Amino acid sequence: MASEWVKGTVVGKHTWAEGLYSIQVEAPVADFRAGQFVKIALDIAGERVGRPYSLVNPPSERPLEFLFNEMPGGPLTPSLSVLNPGDAVWVSAQAGGIFTLEAVAPAANLWLLATGTGIGVYLSILRTPDPWERFERVILVHGVRSGADLVYGETIAALAARWGERFTFVPVVSREFCPQALGGRITDALTGGELEARVGARIESAFSHVMLCGNASMIKDVKQILEARGMVRHRRNAPGQYSTEHYH
Ligand SMILES: Cc1cc2nc3c(=O)[nH]c(=O)nc-3n(C[C@H](O)[C@H](O)[C@H](O)COP(=O)(O)OP(=O)(O)OC[C@H]3O[C@@H](n4cnc5c(N)ncnc54)[C@H](O)[C@@H]3O)c2cc1C
Repeated sequence: MASEWVKGTVVGKHTWAEGLYSIQVEAPVADFRAGQFVKIALDIAGERVGRPYSLVNPPSERPLEFLFNEMPGGPLTPSLSVLNPGDAVWVSAQAGGIFTLEAVAPAANLWLLATGTGIGVYLSILRTPDPWERFERVILVHGVRSGADLVYGETIAALAARWGERFTFVPVVSREFCPQALGGRITDALTGGELEARVGARIESAFSHVMLCGNASMIKDVKQILEARGMVRHRRNAPGQYSTEHYH
C-alpha cells in the first residue's frame, strides 16, 4: 500500500454510542473497490500516527466514511474521536486490501459476518450491484455487546426495503437481552444452530461464500467451524468459500 498521504477534511461526524463514531472525510483518494481500506493519520506529538480503516461508503459515493471505536490509551483513536467538521486529517492516497468480492465465485448465498465496527466494510459492498448480481441471497450478521452498538439502522432498513427477501439482517447481542436479536456471540449462534435456523439456510460449501470481518477470536472460531464443513480460504488465484479481514 502506498505511503503517500493526501490532506483530508472532516465534513461530518456521528456519535452512535459512547466511544463509537463515524466520520465523513473529503480527500482526493484514488478510486477503490468495495471492501478496501485506507489509512487515516494524525500528527501527534510530532509523529504521524496512522491506522487502517475500512471504507463504509460505496465506491460511487463521496465523502469517504469510516466507523471506529475509541480505544482508551490507543495511539490514534483518542485523538480521532475528538475531531469535528472542519478539522484536518491525513488519508493514504491509495486504498488497499483484498477483502473484496473479486474472484469470488457466484453462489446461492453470501454470508457477511461482522463483529463491532467490522460491519462498515459490508455496508460499502452491499451498496454496489456486485453482490446482488452474483448471489441469490445475502445475509448480514452483526455481533455486538449491547443494542446501542447496532449502528447504521437506516442504511440496513433501506437495503431491506430495496432487496426484500433476498436480504436478511441478523443482529447478535452478547451482553444484554435485545428484542429481535439472537443472544450470545456469533460463534455460539452458529454452533447452537440458531443462526442458520433464523435465516432458514445452511452454510455449506456447495452453495455459500462467507466473509468474516472484525475481531480475531471470532474469525478464528468461525474459520474452524467452516473448515470442519469442508470450506477453504478464498484466494485470488485459488478461489475458496470464505474470506477474512482481521481488525485486531
Ligand atoms: C485492514 C484493517 C482495517 C481496519 N478497519 C477498521 C475500521 O474500519 N474501524 C475500526 O474501528 N478499526 C479498524 N481497524 C483497527 C484500526 O486500524 C486501529 O487498530 C484501531 O482503530 C485502534 O487504533 P489505536 O491507534 O487507537 O490503538 P491500537 O494500538 O491500534 O489498538 C489498541 C487496542 O485496541 C484493539 N482494537 C483495535 N481495533 C479495534 C476495534 N475496531 N474494536 C475493538 N478493539 C480494537 C487492539 O487489538 C489493541 O488491543 C482496522 C484494522 C485493519 C488491520
